Amino acid sequence: MKNSILSLLQATTLDVQTVAKGWVRHKRSSQNVSFVTLNDGSTIKTLQIVADADKFAEELKRIHTGACLEVHGKLIASQGAGQSVELVAEKIIVLGEANPEHYPLQPKEHTLEFLRENAHLRARGNTFSAVFRVRHALGYAIHKYFNDNGFYYWHSPIITASDAEGAGEMFQVTALDLKNLPKDDKGNIDFKQDFFGRPTNLTVSGQLEGELGAMGLGKVYTFGPTFRAENSNTTRHLAEFWMIEPEMAFYDIHDNMDLVEDFLRYLIKYALDNCADDLEFLDQRFLKEESKKKKEEQAEMSLVEKLRFVVENQFERLTYTEAINILLNSNYHKKKKFLFEVKWGIDLQSEHERYLVEKHFKKPVILTNYPKAIKAFYMKQNENEEAGKETVRAMDVLFPGIGEIVGGSQREEVYERLKARTDEMHITEELSWYLDTRRFGTAPHSGFGLGFERLVLFVTGMGNIRDVIPFPRTPLNASF
Ligand code: ATP
Ligand code: MN
Repeated sequence: MKNSILSLLQATTLDVQTVAKGWVRHKRSSQNVSFVTLNDGSTIKTLQIVADADKFAEELKRIHTGACLEVHGKLIASQGAGQSVELVAEKIIVLGEANPEHYPLQPKEHTLEFLRENAHLRARGNTFSAVFRVRHALGYAIHKYFNDNGFYYWHSPIITASDAEGAGEMFQVTALDLKNLPKDDKGNIDFKQDFFGRPTNLTVSGQLEGELGAMGLGKVYTFGPTFRAENSNTTRHLAEFWMIEPEMAFYDIHDNMDLVEDFLRYLIKYALDNCADDLEFLDQRFLKEESKKKKEEQAEMSLVEKLRFVVENQFERLTYTEAINILLNSNYHKKKKFLFEVKWGIDLQSEHERYLVEKHFKKPVILTNYPKAIKAFYMKQNENEEAGKETVRAMDVLFPGIGEIVGGSQREEVYERLKARTDEMHITEELSWYLDTRRFGTAPHSGFGLGFERLVLFVTGMGNIRDVIPFPRTPLNASF
């Protein structure tokens, strides 16, 4: 009774009684017999049910796209082309009808926007079920990679009192009655009366807590939900996304780069090896989408070709300063094709990152040694640099079509240097628990953050990050 359609399609013993359960994708009737294709999510493929038109006249009237069926019968070698086995029905139980007048999913293509608004259908269609199977496989591969390489899964908190990025784009967490806020003597909100006795927020990163883990367990990683109240309505930003953040004692920036490259290539290879059917489907979809674009904007490789390319080729490594020089000397710059100004010190815009990756190097790129002024306080400061040109050992990984997929760095492990930065930002007191790691047995260490949805976006070839997470949260959108 526990047969999945995947296992039935792979069955080697035929002509045996079996049961299949799933949702109807399509029904086609000829004079004496109806063919019903069934899918249960275990594979992108469908099982064909052959039902005698007379025997199942009543049932067939109730069977339409979307209905849920339990079919008992015999699995036989298929007569028709396109499938190896089919199930000849002996008993059909309609578990759930889907009235065709009201069921919104019909055997035709639906826009992704439409499917985003109809949450109950997202898992049903080919595109989303393929995306979510790949998402699952990548999640599993992440845990496997770290487990096999001596990392511990370290759970950083979701509610925190610190702002790791210092960007202040946080969702506040409170149990106070917003209609009746307690005030202190000065008339400010009295957070002492709040649940935690202080202001708290949803985490924007588990890194700082990750560093505490690494300073005893050696190599740890977090993999959990992350929240940013940034109002960026782009195809690459979500308000709630999942982040993977490894943190390693005794790793310098070069070890960090070696790890991130090995990790990303492993994950993509894992998907190629384990999600072939889904990737083949997504590859076709990708080609169809690309063909709608202007010739010069079309991708040069198919999805699967692109994934293989990343697995087989080393990433390009260069410094921020080298990247700026490439941009300054580019034809794009000379022809004024960049919207944002290029000069040393800027935070690279998506158009700059994409130029480097897609036009110049045509492969993933790791950029290091960014200006200190545009990066987080915890990054290791390079020494003996020209005034005004100070850099930190940051490391961003840029991917074609995505831009930044990973942000990381070697961390500043020298107490005095780190404290000078937290003093500047007036966060020394708040972060005393973090600074303690540098006071007692400090060690060189590094880490990075991989946005899970950006990885899934890359591997599935989808165009919008909202379509690679089951329930996307974006500005003005938190339904379901
Ligand atoms: P970006 O510049 O693209 O907004 P960031 O510099 O804010 O990203 P980091 O703070 O370095 O990002 O976070 C690490 C990783 O988390 C990023 O490389 C990216 O993969 C992912 N990420 C960051 N913000 C988002 C978001 N709003 N939605 C989805 N993924 C995100
Ligand atoms: Mn970043």
